[in-house]
Amino acid sequence: TTFSDLGLAQPVQRAVAAAGYETPTPVQAAAIPALMEGRDVLGIAQTGTGKTAAFVLPLLDQLAREPGRMGPGKARALILAPTRELAAQIADAFRTYGKFLRVRSALVVGGAKAGPQLRALNASPDVIVATPGRLEDFMGTGAVKLDDTEIVVLDEADQMLDMGFVPAIRRILGQVAEPRQTVLFSATMPKPIKALANEFQTDPETIAI
Ligand code: AMP
Repeated sequence: TTFSDLGLAQPVQRAVAAAGYETPTPVQAAAIPALMEGRDVLGIAQTGTGKTAAFVLPLLDQLAREPGRMGPGKARALILAPTRELAAQIADAFRTYGKFLRVRSALVVGGAKAGPQLRALNASPDVIVATPGRLEDFMGTGAVKLDDTEIVVLDEADQMLDMGFVPAIRRILGQVAEPRQTVLFSATMPKPIKALANEFQTDPETIAI
């Protein structure tokens, strides 16, 4: 498979070329077509496999094909990550691969001032990249409203399990109405993660790298 075989929207393909990528990694070759078809994906993949682009590229493709923001505090897509460092890396990936699109993202993480994050949320982002604790704080005050969110990605789900975030993830996913595309990436698949996938995904395409 080459990147042009995947049929990503032109601005996304241009950003991939600008990043110097020639061939999709195995996880990208498997996940991108499934996600472009609107399927749920359950991916077992470690860091370094290209898993970030595997969910960011199809998400940007969707935003390129059907643009439109949802208003203050809302977003088309929500990415949940265990740490602020990983969340920041994912937000960077949106900037890199979204540089030929008008994509606005809001980074919502603990240990940083709330003001700038609230301003980013108020500016009607396309995407919210968040750690679960701060996101729940903002859901509680009404600063974030997830009912219309179309795509949810749980990245490094086993890390979130180790950090005790599974109850928070359940509460957060419980707020996002169906139909919804739910993507879960994890380096390992312990029982509580498998249970989360069973509970919140519909007929996922399972990818193991
Ligand atoms: P990740 O597994 O998402 O942390 O990505 C690992 C690294 O691989 C990142 O630095 C990406 O920039 C790089 N990368 C992702 N996809 C590709 C690709 N198709 N070709 C070359 N490098 C890539």
